[in-house]
Amino acid sequence: MDIFEELLNLFLPSSCIICAATGSSVCSDCLQKFRFAPNKVSRHQVNHLTGFATCEYTPEIAKIIHEYKEGHQTALAKVMTPAMSKALQNFELANTYLVPIPSKRKSFTARGFEPATVLGKALARQVAKDCKFLLPVKQILSFSHLVADQASLGGQDRRINLVGSMVAKLPRDFGDGPRVILVDDIVTTGSTMAEAYRCLTSAGVEVIGFVAFAETLPRNRQNVSEKSV
Ligand SMILES: [Zn+2]
Repeated sequence: MDIFEELLNLFLPSSCIICAATGSSVCSDCLQKFRFAPNKVSRHQVNHLTGFATCEYTPEIAKIIHEYKEGHQTALAKVMTPAMSKALQNFELANTYLVPIPSKRKSFTARGFEPATVLGKALARQVAKDCKFLLPVKQILSFSHLVADQASLGGQDRRINLVGSMVAKLPRDFGDGPRVILVDDIVTTGSTMAEAYRCLTSAGVEVIGFVAFAETLPRNRQNVSEKSV
C-alpha cells in the first residue's frame, strides 16, 4: 500500500455503502455482484468516438457516485477504476492524454474538488499498475459561462444548452499532436462528451474516445440529471 492509498484509507467509511457490512467502503461481496466490465457506449451525438462505461447507472451505482461526489469519499475512485483501466486497453495509449470533463463552477464551489479529475488521476494510477504505462492527466477543459441546470431538459435541449459552453486551454507541455481520451464518472445523453469533443477538436486536438464509470440506459435516464457536470 502506497502513501497515497494510506491517506485515502483515513477517509474510508468503516462500512459498505451498499450493504452496511463493516470493513470497507464497498465490500468484496457487493463488488463481485456489480461485475464491473467495459461495455461499449452508443450515443448518437458521439457515435464517431469509441466510448466505454463499466456499469449501468442503477440506484446502487447512484449511491456510489453520490458518496464519491457529494460525500467526498474520493477513495471510492479505487472501486471505480479497475474496469475503466481495462476499457483503456482497447486504445492505443502512446502519445495519449486523459482529459477529465470539468465541473460546473457552481458544483466545484460546492464540492471543493473536480470529481472527474480525481477519477482520471486514480485511473492513471490503475493503468500504471496494470500496464506499467504512464498516462498523463491534463485538466485543460473548463466551462466558459454558467450553464443552465440540465436536469429538466430533454436530450436535444441539453445539447443546445451545452454547445459553446466549454473552453480548452492547452498547456505548453501538451506536446506535439497528442491524442485525448475523455474521462467522466457518468455518461447520460452524451451531450457533455459531445461538447468536450467539439471544444477540443476546434482547438486542434484529436479526441479518440471516452471512458466513464457508469452509463444511464433509456429506462433510467429520466431519473438522473446531467450529473457529470
Ligand atoms: Zn457490501
